Amino acid sequence: MTTTAPRLIRPYIDGEVTGDGELIERRAPGTNAHVSNIVATERHDVERAIRAARTSFDDGRWADTTGFHRAAVLNRLADLIDRDAELLARLDAEEGGKPIRIARGDVGGAASLCRYAAALALTQHGDSYTNNGPDFTGIIMKQPIGVVSLVIPWNFPALILCQKLPFALAAGCSAVIKPSEFTSASAMHIAHLCSEAGVPDGVVNVVTGAGDVGQLLNESPLIDMVSFTGSTATGKKVMQAAAGTMKKLSLELGGKAASVVFDDADLEDAIAGVTFGVTFNNGECCVSQARLIVQDGIADELLAGVAERMRQVRVGQPLDEATDVGAMIHAQHREKVLDLVAGAGAAGAEITLGGGALQGGELGDGQFVEATIIDGVRPGLEVFSQEIFGPVLTVTRFGDDAEGISLANRVSYGLSNSVWSKNIDRVLTAAKEIRSGTVYANTAIDGPPQMPIGGFKASGIGREMGEAGFEEFLETKSVNIRTGRRAGSFMIPGTRA
Ligand code: NDP
Repeated sequence: MTTTAPRLIRPYIDGEVTGDGELIERRAPGTNAHVSNIVATERHDVERAIRAARTSFDDGRWADTTGFHRAAVLNRLADLIDRDAELLARLDAEEGGKPIRIARGDVGGAASLCRYAAALALTQHGDSYTNNGPDFTGIIMKQPIGVVSLVIPWNFPALILCQKLPFALAAGCSAVIKPSEFTSASAMHIAHLCSEAGVPDGVVNVVTGAGDVGQLLNESPLIDMVSFTGSTATGKKVMQAAAGTMKKLSLELGGKAASVVFDDADLEDAIAGVTFGVTFNNGECCVSQARLIVQDGIADELLAGVAERMRQVRVGQPLDEATDVGAMIHAQHREKVLDLVAGAGAAGAEITLGGGALQGGELGDGQFVEATIIDGVRPGLEVFSQEIFGPVLTVTRFGDDAEGISLANRVSYGLSNSVWSKNIDRVLTAAKEIRSGTVYANTAIDGPPQMPIGGFKASGIGREMGEAGFEEFLETKSVNIRTGRRAGSFMIPGTRA
């Protein structure tokens, strides 16, 4: 079921495919077919990529263009992503194990993000203050932060790249991209599309390979900012490494979202939303709604409905149009998911659906896991608080509203949560009291490019998407100007020295 096999993925530096090194073999997690060889970029080539980005930024070939021009290029990039959407979707489904229908949605989202970033490039502006006396003018300028490294995880290779790159380009930054060693093909293709759209050579560079390549980016004095998405553990390493050169950081890290279902929810919607929230993208999603927290009065009815829906979820080959849940990213990750489920069973929780690996038949020896429900999960259990990153729903019941909200907050993460209720008081009270960067109400994993995402607590620092996400790639400069004859001394206002 490979599209082209195996493809060679080499670094892209200063507009050239260049650089050799050891090859990292990538096998499709659905079929185990050898689909890509990824060059582990050597240190001297990583340094070359960083220098190319630095030079391109410092000589202003992109940063000094007009917002109007950058917007036109970003709109062209969106059109090219649309043109190549099927190829990009197949690359992500094949290398990443995600269902092709989800991959198509990701690529559509990536194009929308480019169009939104184009609008920001066009309308970006600073501010001014003229209310501090007739001789004072304060100009607040917005300028690109400089050279940024964009570190991309494997769960949304094209989409997460486009949560960062178009915004950085809209601001006028130059970039060095580090895709995941498991899913590098779509990022490489998008880098080539940038060039076709009119981004000058050197502004977008890609270095392939594993975490050590990312570490070189964190440490480089020539890079001004790291925008990282991945695990909280690696996020901490990025922070430590970036401290040496005092870089700006944007960290989009792990999550452990809850669906809090109150007893006046529309049950049909909640059943569909809870099931979608935990199975979307194989459950390998930082905003996966992995914890169902349900009010006592409706718990049995809701659970029966969710179990029925989860039984209908089709686990299958990523490139099969009928597949709802594809393959886990790799064997080690599948083992981690299965171990967490087994650990919950051993600790007294009840595995009421699934819980095992799936193999054989059309699934061959791919990395498949059954859609799983674990009932009776107490806050002390590992599965309540740790990211599982698989199609696994834990269930915890609550009595009053305050208890439901407190359970949602009782994890170290704070990326997103959803609440289900038809009562506006309950929805708004919960939205205010839940400590996460996003709260969905009567919906799950939903939202346009205008809405920023990012974490409270251990889920990270900074925001992506929206105006807040664009702002991350900008510096703010105050220019304080006095005009006319100076009225007083520097020390004592109103007197001349
Ligand atoms: P990581 O956080 O290790 O990887 C994310 C990205 O960071 C990859 O491109 C990785 O490269 C790169 N990287 C690794 N080390 C460094 C470093 N020191 N400096 C800069 N970049 C680095 O995630 P994993 O793939 O190991 O996944 C582990 C767990 O993390 C998952 O099971 C899941 O729980 C969570 N996760 C959360 C994500 C989210 O969206 N919040 C996304 C992915 C994972 P490479 O992979 O090539 O080594």
